[in-house]
Amino acid sequence: MRASIAIDMDDTVADTLSRHISWYKQRFGIVLAKEQLAGKSFYDAVQKEHRSAVQQHPHEADFFDQLDVIDNAVEVIQHLSQSYDIFFASAAMEYPSSFPAKYRWLRQHFPFISPMNYIFCGYKGMLNCDYLIDDSPRHLDNFKQTGLLFSAPHNSQYSNYQRVQNWQAVKSYFAKLST
Ligand SMILES: [Mg+2]
Repeated sequence: MRASIAIDMDDTVADTLSRHISWYKQRFGIVLAKEQLAGKSFYDAVQKEHRSAVQQHPHEADFFDQLDVIDNAVEVIQHLSQSYDIFFASAAMEYPSSFPAKYRWLRQHFPFISPMNYIFCGYKGMLNCDYLIDDSPRHLDNFKQTGLLFSAPHNSQYSNYQRVQNWQAVKSYFAKLST
């Protein structure tokens, strides 16, 4: 039986952070650099009076449309799919209005992964895959198999996880396992 890899969407394959940054600039005229977000969620990084708007924004149905794909995610996942069963696991229940856009986005960018392998969930501790690649430490904490922390500015302070800096590093990690 092939081993399986569950892959998070936001800030792992979909560049949600860049969407937050461009929207914030457009809405409030403030440019936040990714370096300013080290160790902080976007919510914590913005001015206090903007936080309720920031919290509300991902609940808009079009927020998850037209997100950029994180560099090399398509090529590396296509490569991994030759040896592993790939699942996309998104805690989409946090943003119920996001389901159609997330579905469309995955179909558009990862047409080689069956929609039967999409898991829109809440609690990722229920996932029974062999690996989980995710930028959120809390999801890795709940996951019972091998977790890989996908680097993002907000998680830069954590050292107690197996970290992958980018998709090339993911490719190297799995290449080493097979040698
Ligand atoms: Mg994420």
